[in-house]
Amino acid sequence: MGPAIGGDGQASARSRMALSNVRTGLAPDAIAVALIENLHCLQGKRPRDATPNDWYMALAYTVRDRMMERYVATVGSIAEETTDVKAVAYLSAEFLTGPHLGNGLISLGIWDAVEEALSRVGQDLSGLLEQEEEPGLGNGGLGRLAACYMDSLARLNVPAIGYGIRYEFGIFDQSIRDGWQVEVTDKWLRFGNPWEMVRSEIAFDVKFGGRTEPYHNAAGRYCVRWLPEKVIKGVAYDTPIPGYRVPTTNLLRLWKAEAVESFDFEAFNVGDYYRAVDEKVLSETISKVLYPNDEPESGKQLRLAQQYFFVSCSLQDMVRLLLMRGKPLDELHSYWAAQLNDTHPSIAVAELMRLLVDEHAMEWDQAWAITQQTCAYTNHTLLPEALERWPLPLFARLLPRHLDIIYEINRRFLDELRLRCPNEEQLLRRLSLIDEAGDKYVRMAHLASLGSHAINGVAVLHSELLKRTVLRDFHLVSPEKFLNVTNGVTPRRWIALSNPKLCTLITRHIGDRWLANLEDELRRLEPLADELEFQRDWQAVKVDNKRVLARLIKDRTGVIVDPHSLFDVQAKRLHEYKRQHLNVLYLVTLYNRLRHAGGAVTPRTVIFSGKAAPAYRMAKLIIKLVNSVAAVVNRDPVVSQALKVVFLPDFNVKNGQRIYPAADLSEQISTAGKEASGTGNMKFAMNGAITIGTLDGANIEIRDAVGQENFFLFGLSAAEVELLKAEGYTPRSIYESNPELREAIDLIRSGFFSNGDRELFHPLVDSLLTYDEYMLLADYQAYVDCQERVSNAYSDPNAWTRMSILNTARVGHFSSDRSIREYCRHIWKVTPIVSDERES
Ligand SMILES: *Cc1c(COP(=O)(O)O)cnc(C)c1O
Repeated sequence: MGPAIGGDGQASARSRMALSNVRTGLAPDAIAVALIENLHCLQGKRPRDATPNDWYMALAYTVRDRMMERYVATVGSIAEETTDVKAVAYLSAEFLTGPHLGNGLISLGIWDAVEEALSRVGQDLSGLLEQEEEPGLGNGGLGRLAACYMDSLARLNVPAIGYGIRYEFGIFDQSIRDGWQVEVTDKWLRFGNPWEMVRSEIAFDVKFGGRTEPYHNAAGRYCVRWLPEKVIKGVAYDTPIPGYRVPTTNLLRLWKAEAVESFDFEAFNVGDYYRAVDEKVLSETISKVLYPNDEPESGKQLRLAQQYFFVSCSLQDMVRLLLMRGKPLDELHSYWAAQLNDTHPSIAVAELMRLLVDEHAMEWDQAWAITQQTCAYTNHTLLPEALERWPLPLFARLLPRHLDIIYEINRRFLDELRLRCPNEEQLLRRLSLIDEAGDKYVRMAHLASLGSHAINGVAVLHSELLKRTVLRDFHLVSPEKFLNVTNGVTPRRWIALSNPKLCTLITRHIGDRWLANLEDELRRLEPLADELEFQRDWQAVKVDNKRVLARLIKDRTGVIVDPHSLFDVQAKRLHEYKRQHLNVLYLVTLYNRLRHAGGAVTPRTVIFSGKAAPAYRMAKLIIKLVNSVAAVVNRDPVVSQALKVVFLPDFNVKNGQRIYPAADLSEQISTAGKEASGTGNMKFAMNGAITIGTLDGANIEIRDAVGQENFFLFGLSAAEVELLKAEGYTPRSIYESNPELREAIDLIRSGFFSNGDRELFHPLVDSLLTYDEYMLLADYQAYVDCQERVSNAYSDPNAWTRMSILNTARVGHFSSDRSIREYCRHIWKVTPIVSDERES
C-alpha cells in the first residue's frame, strides 16, 4: 500500500510525492491512506478493531509527519554551521500548550482535507479532537503566555526553542464534590503522547549538593571545582511547534529527569536491590510533578531542584548547539537570546557564569558581559509574597557553587555601586542579592534583574508600578534596562480553533489574511458594526457558541441554562485578588432584589470556572460559596427564571476553548494594581465579549483600544487604592452604612446558603469585615451599579451586538504576534529567517 518512494529522479519524484506521499501528502486521498497505514503500523489495528484512541493516535502521527520537513529545516538553522541566525531560547517552568491536534491542522492548512479523509474511513474529526488529553504543564496565565509566544515565534519565522520541564503529572484535574474542590492526579501520559520525540542522545548531567574546592589548573589559573553529592541526567523530549502557514516549525524541548545509572551496582551486588532502585526513584522525582501554585512555594527544595535542573540542561544545550555551529563561545550572545519567563529560570544567570568560568575557563568579566547580553527578564507580579526567594541554608546545600558565584556577582555589584553612590548603605542593602534582615535569603528577582540587559513588565500599568515598587531600586541604578511589553494571545488558537463559526463569518467579510496579521486587518470589521444583517449573523454565531457551552454545562453539572440569557463569565485561577467573591456578593444582592421585588430583569447565567491551589484555603472556600449560592438560586422557582449560577469544573485550555467564545460579559474585576496583565481579558474581547472591569493590568489598554463606550468600567484606580490604604481603610464602616451590602453579607453569615451552618463561611466574612485586603467592600457599590448598566445595555440587542463587534474589531493589538515583534525589536534583536510578508 502507498506510493513507492525513490526509484527515478529525486526532484520529479518529490514533486509527484508532494500531494500523494503517504507521509507528506496534503490531499484527502493521501491523508486517508496514511490514516490506515498508521493504524496498521503504529497501533497494530485493523479499522474495525480500532478504538477512538487508536484513531486519534493514527491521526496525530499523520499530522505530525506533515510537520517534519519544516521542523528539520528550522532545527537546521539553529544547529548548522552554514547559518548565522540568532535564535530565541524561551526559558519557562511552564508551557500550557493545550491540545496539539486542532492547532496543527490550522497551522498546516489541512483542516478540510483531514475532515474529508476521515469521513472516507468512517471517522469524525470532532470526536477525535475530543480524544486528546491536553498537556497541563502550567498553572494558568504564565504558562499559557509561554505557549502563545511559541506559536507567534513560529508564525513570525523566528527560530526558537522553548525550554522547560516534562512533568509526568501536570496541573491536577479538578472535580467538585459536595461543592468542594477535589484534586485528581493528571495522568496525561497514560495513553502515550504522539507529539513528542525522545532524544536519548541529547542528555546532560546536572549536579546537586556536595561542596566546592579551589585548585590551580595547568596554566596556573585559579579555579574552583564542584564535587557534587549527586548527579542526575536530563533527557530531551521535543515537540514540534508549527507556525501558521509559514515554513518555520520550532520546537518545545522539555527535560525529563533520569537516574544517571539505573542501578547502584555496589548496592545491587550486596543484595540491596531496593536501595538501588530508591536512587532511581529519587532522581526521577525532579520532573515528576508540577507545583500547583500560582505563587512560589517557599522553602521547597524540590522546587529549586526543578528550576536548576531544567535551566542547567537548557544552557548546556544552547552551548552545545553554538559549538556545533562552529561559533566561538564568546559570541554566545550573538546567536542566542535567552528570555527568563519570571524568576523561575533566574538561576540561569549563575549557571551561565558557572558554565563559562568553571567549565570553559573564561575570564569573569567577559563571562559576565556575555551573560548580561544574553539574558532578559520578564517580571509577572507585583504581589510581594509572590517574589521568589530561597532560604540561604537550603540554597547552599543544593547549589554550593552557585552560592559562591552569586556572592561574587554581588560583591562586584555592590563595590561598583559604592563608588557610584557613596554613603548609600541603605540603598545597597536593599539592592543586595542576599536579603540579610533576619533569616537570610537569596533574592531571585534581584539575580534576574542584575544578570539581564532588559527587564520588562507585561502591561503598561504593571511596568510603571514595577519601577515604583518591587524593582524601584534597580530602576534607580539602571533605568535604561526597563521597558514594557504588553502580553498578547494567539488568534490561531483563541479565535480560529476555538470559534470556527466566528472565524468563517469574519473571513467571509474581510478575507483570510487577518489571522496572520490581526493588528492591521481585524479593524476592517469596524464599518460592519452598524449593518443589521452582519449584526444578525454575529448574534447567531454567539448563540450557537452559547448552545455548545450550555450542553457542556449540562453534561458536567446537570444545570440547564438558557442560551438566550446573558452569559456572564469569570474564568481564571481562584485568587482573592481576582475577587470572585465580589462577583458572589453581587449575586447574593441580585438574589435578594429578585426575592423582594421580582419584576422585569435581564435574565443572566453567571458562570464561574477556575482551580484553587490545593493549600489555599480561602480560595477553596470561595469555590464552596459559589456552589452553595448556586444551589439555592438554581432551585428557587422564581429567582431561577432570571438567574442561574454555575461552577464549571476543571478550567483548562480545552474547556477555555468552549468558554471564551460563548461569553457575553467578561469579568475582569481584580483590585486595581494587583493583576499584572491578564490574558483571559484579551481572549474574551477577541471573541466579542464585553468587559466589566477595573483599571488594572491590560484592562486599561483594552479599554483604550475598544473605546470607553464599549467597556464597563467601575471601581477604584490603583492610585486610589493606595491612597485609601494609606488613609486607613475600614471595611466595617462600609458594611454598616450600606443596607444592601449588609443584607448580602448577613445572609451568607446566617447559614442561609450552608444548611444553617454559621461557621462555614465565617473565615471569609471575617476577613472581609476586618481587613478586606483586596478592598471588595470599597468597590462593592460601584460594581453593583455597573452591573445594572450591563443589564440595561443587554436589553437592547442591536446596541449590544454593535459593542461586541467593535470589541473584536479593535483588539488586534493584543495578538501575541505584536508582543513577539516587540520582544524581537527591543529586547532580543533577532530578525526572521524568512522575510515577513507583512513588511514586504
Ligand atoms: C488564558 C488562561 C488563563 C489566564 O487567565 P486570566 O484571566 O488572565 O487570569 C488561565 N488559565 C487558562 C487555562 C487560560 O487559557
